[in-house]
Amino acid sequence: MKTLVLDEKQIDIAADILKNGGVVGIPTETVYGLAADALNGAAVAKIFRAKGRPMDNPLIVHIADFSDIRRFDLVREIPESAEALAKAFWPGPLTMIFKRTDAVPSEVSAGLDTVAIRFPSHPVAQAVIRAAGTPLAAPSANLSGSPSPTTARHVLNDMDGRIDAVLDGGASAVGVESTVITLAAGTPRVLRPGGVTVEMLREVLGEVDVDDAVLHQLAEGAEAASPGMKYKHYAPKANVILLKGSDRAYIDYVNAHAGDDVCALCCDEDLLDLKVKTVSLGRRGDYLTHARHLFDCLRRMDENKTVRTVYSRLPSTEGVGLAVYNRLIRAAGFEVIEL
Ligand code: AMP
Ligand code: MG
Repeated sequence: MKTLVLDEKQIDIAADILKNGGVVGIPTETVYGLAADALNGAAVAKIFRAKGRPMDNPLIVHIADFSDIRRFDLVREIPESAEALAKAFWPGPLTMIFKRTDAVPSEVSAGLDTVAIRFPSHPVAQAVIRAAGTPLAAPSANLSGSPSPTTARHVLNDMDGRIDAVLDGGASAVGVESTVITLAAGTPRVLRPGGVTVEMLREVLGEVDVDDAVLHQLAEGAEAASPGMKYKHYAPKANVILLKGSDRAYIDYVNAHAGDDVCALCCDEDLLDLKVKTVSLGRRGDYLTHARHLFDCLRRMDENKTVRTVYSRLPSTEGVGLAVYNRLIRAAGFEVIEL
């Protein structure tokens, strides 16, 4: 099967494929998603096969308006907190978890009694959901375990021949996956950090917890609130090592460990001082730009076949920095060297 490459004028073709139970890579503002009709269990099962995704890792359901939650009878109740968050951050990079109804196929919720829902802001994503006339289940459109795709080319690199089509809508603006917050029980809790920061959520809701798995490795055998957090993730083939220390200490350490197989995942201000291959995330402290570039940088490391070791700073946990931290610490298998 050859994968069709569609442009923004061919949204109807993508929608027809989706209506007929096919699987299409679609642009969103976070990362590219691998979409199928969320109400068709057999179609959703194809997503898991194409990605090689473990069946116990549930998918996010994408809608094109807040009212779609009721229209498609997806959840048992809509808490007030959800209405407040939707008003503040939808459409946008925030996923909310609700108690689900039986309208949600078990393939989507992976056996849980909850469903994750997002209303993306990307105009092409909205248009394709509307044209398909059904909510779309869509995880990131990468092979399971590899960095998420932020361009149609990234999707093709992983998925060519494995999916029906990819719809090219340009590079994703946020660059990391959505913030996931559960509203299904007790105090709202962030399960995955993303473009909507913990600070922003607290401004709307007051109290918001951050799940332990955001910053730390889950203990052996512990149950993950968000099953995706337990898998090795976002990893390039090279060995990623995080360094904790001052800017000078970072540069000195990398130069002391220079070699043909070493690459620094660094900032623009480091470029002149580093004596190894470099890939820059952007200017120091510009966490929004770091997030936008992160996955493309990790994929570029893999394209350079000689790179075996990647040295990066331990990111800040402030604002969108927390999302970059969460992805990089997993890419590094939680390995941090204190300088
Ligand atoms: P992806 O966007 O492909 O990275 O995957 C969606 C993320 O949302 C994964 O980390 C899932 O484990 C998480 N997720 C989806 N549905 C649920 C749910 N009902 N409860 C908890 N986490 C969920
Ligand atoms: Mg993913």
